[in-house]
Amino acid sequence: MATPALKYTNYLLEEAVKKLNLGYHTDWFIDEIQGFDERWSSDISVKMADRDNPDKRRPYTFRVVRVKHKRPSDDCIAAGGLRAHPNVTLSGIENLAMEMSIKAWCMGILNYYGAKGGIAIDPAQFTLPELQDIFNKMIEKMVEKNIIGPFHDRLAPDLNTNPMIMQWITDHYGYMMRLKGLTDVPFNGVVTGKPESAGGIAFRKAATGVGLHYALKTFLGYLRKNRKDLNIPKEITCAINGFGNVGLYFGQFCQEPDSRIKVVAVRDLYGAVYKPDGLPLKELIAYVQSHPKKSVDGFENAIKGCEKITTKKDFFSLPVYMFIPAALEGDIGEEEAAIAQYKILLEGANSPTTREADEIFAKRGIIVIPDIYANAGGLTVSYFEHAHNIGRQNRYPVAPVPSRDDDSVRAALQHYMTENGRDLIVSAEKYQVSYRLAGNILALSRVFPNFLARRRMNE
Ligand code: NAD
Repeated sequence: MATPALKYTNYLLEEAVKKLNLGYHTDWFIDEIQGFDERWSSDISVKMADRDNPDKRRPYTFRVVRVKHKRPSDDCIAAGGLRAHPNVTLSGIENLAMEMSIKAWCMGILNYYGAKGGIAIDPAQFTLPELQDIFNKMIEKMVEKNIIGPFHDRLAPDLNTNPMIMQWITDHYGYMMRLKGLTDVPFNGVVTGKPESAGGIAFRKAATGVGLHYALKTFLGYLRKNRKDLNIPKEITCAINGFGNVGLYFGQFCQEPDSRIKVVAVRDLYGAVYKPDGLPLKELIAYVQSHPKKSVDGFENAIKGCEKITTKKDFFSLPVYMFIPAALEGDIGEEEAAIAQYKILLEGANSPTTREADEIFAKRGIIVIPDIYANAGGLTVSYFEHAHNIGRQNRYPVAPVPSRDDDSVRAALQHYMTENGRDLIVSAEKYQVSYRLAGNILALSRVFPNFLARRRMNE
């Protein structure tokens, strides 16, 4: 059954197609774009220490899933994150796979289409060797069923997965290819977000957080000129919900002299801290990195003037100019939208805002810079990494793939975020719609000719 998030995405896609005025092709394209190429799930069984009797080993079963949206042309590659979370289900990730397509096309990366996958576990419950066994087993199953590969579906880090896990996957995939005698496969192209030593791009870790800065900069440039009513201050106060890969790197780059963003509150799964005159980010990041749960919890005891926030409601109603959801999808519903005091919502997480919340934001004049563009930095740098690994570029590049050094990657990322952000704003003005719907329109307008050509070839 479609989740509310999938229903909302389907609604946005339908509205976007209608706005494009495709005449005779309208109904066909809506059907096409609302479907999936593949919805795969399987159970894997891994032998490990018995939780009740650690001297013994016994098999444990885990569910793994991968969903691929629709490919616009036959040589397109599915691309998208792989998460490890107890709530991972097939129906729960369909919407995320679809959004991944929209994100890629919104960024002009038309040789990709969206995918999402995961494994239903809480990684905190396992030792590192156990986790490695679980991921290896997952890769074996995915290879056996031909789910993944550098030229048809590549994975990336997502919730609770990281460069170390990406390296495990690369190594095990490479090992399996060699066992099959396939020694010339560019196996490190099966995942992105790898350590640099394994074919990755060092800047990938920071890319989503830094991309958020470029998205914000692009929008602020426009809003400061065209929306004087917003009275945008020179320095923007901000609260971040979720301080992992996305939130932490956003915070880290707030320390750059030209950012003009003051992070006053941060929340994660285990705690939340608030300092109205600005959190000391250097100390906070060092604290989180050395915390056993990678959390901000307890930081209030380390710094004078810093207080703990105990309820979600108190955190989501803080008097800040901007709020960044960077944790889970669906975190901002009707209740959270109604109590919001911020003027700008910059979506770091995927699908953090429900349809009902979006409607409230529209009524209240709160600017939503949508995930399908705002958090596309990770996807963009993953595309650079993957293009290096497989030696193939986007057929319709916004700009050439940069070399791997930090400065070149950062400059190219800025270019992608700025150019596509401007296109998105133009789309919103042209169709007089929200930025979220404008992003969908922009994405579909770019990719429609490819879908049409593929249809004609198959007729
Ligand atoms: P992560 O696992 O590195 O960090 C997640 C953070 O959210 C952690 O601080 C965790 O404690 C916190 N968290 C988890 N549950 C929470 C809850 N119920 N309330 C408050 N905080 C909670 O994950 P990430 O890679 O930073 O991804 C975060 C979100 O951003 C996800 O929605 C992901 O799909 C999206 N995203 C990630 C990337 C990327 O490059 N990593 C790119 C685009 C979008």
